[in-house]
Parts: sequence; structure tokens; C-alpha cells
Amino acid sequence: MAGALLREVGAALADLVLPRTCAGCGRPGAVLCPRCARCLAAPRPAQPRRFPDGFPPTVAAGAYAGPVRPAVNAFKEQGRAELATPLGAALALAVAAVRLGAGDRSRPVLLVPVPTSPAAVRDRGRDHVRELTGRAVGELRAAGLPAAECRALRRQGRVRDSAGLSAPERRANLAGTFALDARRRPAGALLVLVDDVVTSGATLSEAASVLAAGRGPHELPVLAAVVAATPRAPAGPGGAGRWRPANGPAADLDRLSPPGRRD
Ligand SMILES: [Zn+2]
Repeated sequence: MAGALLREVGAALADLVLPRTCAGCGRPGAVLCPRCARCLAAPRPAQPRRFPDGFPPTVAAGAYAGPVRPAVNAFKEQGRAELATPLGAALALAVAAVRLGAGDRSRPVLLVPVPTSPAAVRDRGRDHVRELTGRAVGELRAAGLPAAECRALRRQGRVRDSAGLSAPERRANLAGTFALDARRRPAGALLVLVDDVVTSGATLSEAASVLAAGRGPHELPVLAAVVAATPRAPAGPGGAGRWRPANGPAADLDRLSPPGRRD
């Protein structure tokens, strides 16, 4: 706790002493400038190159390309925790979009963070996915959507480094990694797995299959939302545009603040 507090104080002091720059493009000013933030205000379905078995319907707030890559990496690997605000807002947008797609607007939405490995949490000194989840829940509630965090999954066992593995190998590497926390088994709610980035989709597929195993036969499928997804094709100017599900009013999306409004 003391370490987290010190880091927070350190970040606040750094804000006062050091000029801030956009984590996406390096321009002085906001932690994520409006131009870069716009890249995370275009929710779209995540489309891995090869859909792994059991890949859940997933919406990403933007493409993991251009300025989004350095911004996510600065948050995740370089300790720029202040990016939790714009990236959490982006995640909230993706959750609201995937919820609209599900069509059932009466149920509360539970955000289930994909658990980070204990080794990664130790290395980084923080759990960045939990930070994003907390911010996203706050944004959704502020927009009037019934949302809460639900830590229904936990890590078990060890996973070897997945660099260089094919998609099926990644999935096999992840088998048995996640376990359902029976005390938190959620019923009746819309479950949305949340993570920072989706690339091959192996992690989300594995996590969704474990989460779905605890569901009753008449419950809605597990959905997923991420900040960014690896694009199938290089994103052109403006990317694929802002995606709106066809079967639902988009008012939820409009109520949410865009990722770069505050920092
Ligand atoms: Zn920028």
C-alpha cells in the first residue's frame, strides 16, 4: 500500500515539475492529446486474423496501431499511470458498445478483468488491467449504466512466454491458466471480460471459456471489451470509423465522455 501511495505522490509531483507530453505522439500538453484520443473513440468489433475457438464477441475502442501503441505501452510498461483516465474511458466506450450489441439493456453489466499474472504484477508494481477496469466502471456509472467490477477469474499455474508461438500454441499454453472463483460466481448479469489489448485472441478465448463454464444454460454469452485490437489490415486515415451496433439505440455511447476529454 505504501509503495502504491508513494508512486501516486511521485506521479503527482512529476506532473508539477516535468512538462507533460502526449503518450501517443509526444506533443507537449495533455497526457493523451485530442487527436490521439480520437483514435480510441471509434469502437469496432475485434477481428483476430484467425478466430480462435470460443473467441467471445469483442469490441475494441480503437486499433492497436499508430499512436495507440505507444500510449498503451507507456501505461502498461513505463508506469504512466495517469493514462488510466483516457484509456479507462476508452474501455468504457468499448463495454457500452458491446453491451448495445447484446441487445439486453435490462441487466447490470459486470466487468471481469482478465487476471494479470502475479509475476507481471510484481515486475510492474501494479495491476494495470485492474486500474483500467476501475476507471471504466466509474465512467459507465457516471453515464448512468449499471456497472460493477467482478473479479470472477483468477490465475493459476504458470504460463511460459508466448512470444513466437502460433495461435493454437498460445491457446494450448494458456490451458488451465484461469480458474473461476466460485465465491464470485455471477448469475443473471451481463458478463464482459475486459483487457487492455487483444492480438491473437487466445487469452480472451481461454478466459471466456472458463467464465462460461459457470453459467446457466439460459444466460447470455460472455462478451469482451478491450482498449485496442490489432487491426487486420493497416488502418487508413480515420480507421474504420465509429462502429455502432445495428440493433440498439446509441445513446449510451453518446453519454460517455470521449477518452481525451479529461486527463
Ligand atoms: Zn497525441
